[in-house]
Amino acid sequence: MEKKDMLVYNNNFKTLNKLFDLNSNIHIIAGPCAVESIEQMEQTAQFIVKNGLKFIRGGAYKPRTCPYDFQGLGEEGLKILGHIKKKYDLITVSEIMDPRDIEKAIDYIDVIQIGSRNMYNYSLLKEVGKTNHPVLLKRGMTATVNEFLNAAEYVVSNGNTNVILCERGIRTFEDSTRNTLDISCIAIIKHETSLPIIADLSHSLGRTDIVLSIAKAVKAMNIDGIMLELHPEPKKALSDQQQQLSFREFESLLEEIK
Ligand code: PEP
Ligand code: MN
Repeated sequence: MEKKDMLVYNNNFKTLNKLFDLNSNIHIIAGPCAVESIEQMEQTAQFIVKNGLKFIRGGAYKPRTCPYDFQGLGEEGLKILGHIKKKYDLITVSEIMDPRDIEKAIDYIDVIQIGSRNMYNYSLLKEVGKTNHPVLLKRGMTATVNEFLNAAEYVVSNGNTNVILCERGIRTFEDSTRNTLDISCIAIIKHETSLPIIADLSHSLGRTDIVLSIAKAVKAMNIDGIMLELHPEPKKALSDQQQQLSFREFESLLEEIK
């Protein structure tokens, strides 16, 4: 279909996104890669609240490359997120991979994340499109901008206009970062649509030492938000240890980008 007939290019989403006040400062979605325990999430939530932030992330269902690696706590993880959401009044963000899990997840998570590996899962996109729950749609690691926006069109055309896009890096020959953050994608989406877009600086970079410069760069592009992995003890994390920020690192980053 031509751009002129697609909702993502024509709708004004600015008025529709409940959770994203697009006139406010940059939104920061932080939290561990995976929900590992109630203690880990309590510590993270207290830290997030102390820093005046509103969102907490954490995967209950983890799409791991190796089937023998930690797969997430599943439903127990969702319940931990539900507890945190109530106790700290935070907005919870967590990935759903299976359409059968949507219904049970909805009470516990405020934003359904569709991960990079599932951007092309059209049945999943249609199902989340039939809810009116906010959806954080990540770019597939090999998806063109057009494919990315068509994935968003699947959600929007099924009735759910609460979509937040997330650039999380694409696969290139470059191996000094985990993926290559595509800033052109951010500029194109800002230019051609009114959908909010955030950048995931943890999965794109896969390292913590250059997060600050990249955060400044995307902030200068007027990005709507950034996603950052944050863990009370990154070295002990059950997944993505190398890219999760410690509380200390996170605090100095916040200082710098404010
Ligand atoms: C995540 O955010 O937990 C994740 C797995 O990211 P991605 O889908 O971008 O790889
Ligand atoms: Mn991760």
